[in-house]
Amino acid sequence: MENKTFYHEILTDHNLHPAHKHDLHDADYVLEGVNPNCGDDIWLKVKINDGRIEQASFLGDGCAISQASADMMLDLVIGKTKEDALRMTDLFLRMIQGETTESELEELEEASVLQNVSHMPARVKCAVLGWHTLKEILENE
Ligand code: ZN
Repeated sequence: MENKTFYHEILTDHNLHPAHKHDLHDADYVLEGVNPNCGDDIWLKVKINDGRIEQASFLGDGCAISQASADMMLDLVIGKTKEDALRMTDLFLRMIQGETTESELEELEEASVLQNVSHMPARVKCAVLGWHTLKEILENE
């Protein structure tokens, strides 16, 4: 019960006060991620300098899970190297498949509240949208 409340609080907070939902005019990479099943549509903007994610943001619309997940992702990866950020995306995607250990979950910080989504198949695509989009940018960089 406590966990469930915590989950909703974090989701609500990231939807009402997203830290990274804004435009980024000098982005090096801009990529759209779409989840037609739910109507989630985000634009991810990333600025990479010297192998590091110097700045990143997202724009767009979608359900609470897709928006909160993208915002939490950017909390985690801004300032990290491309390699570290890719490791985080892999961790997150494995968590959604229910394949992470406790210590790996800790590394995901707030984003680990979305582990519940592994039991909600209909919401999986919402949760992974931002992470898949980031992964695509970083792997093709
Ligand atoms: Zn959604």
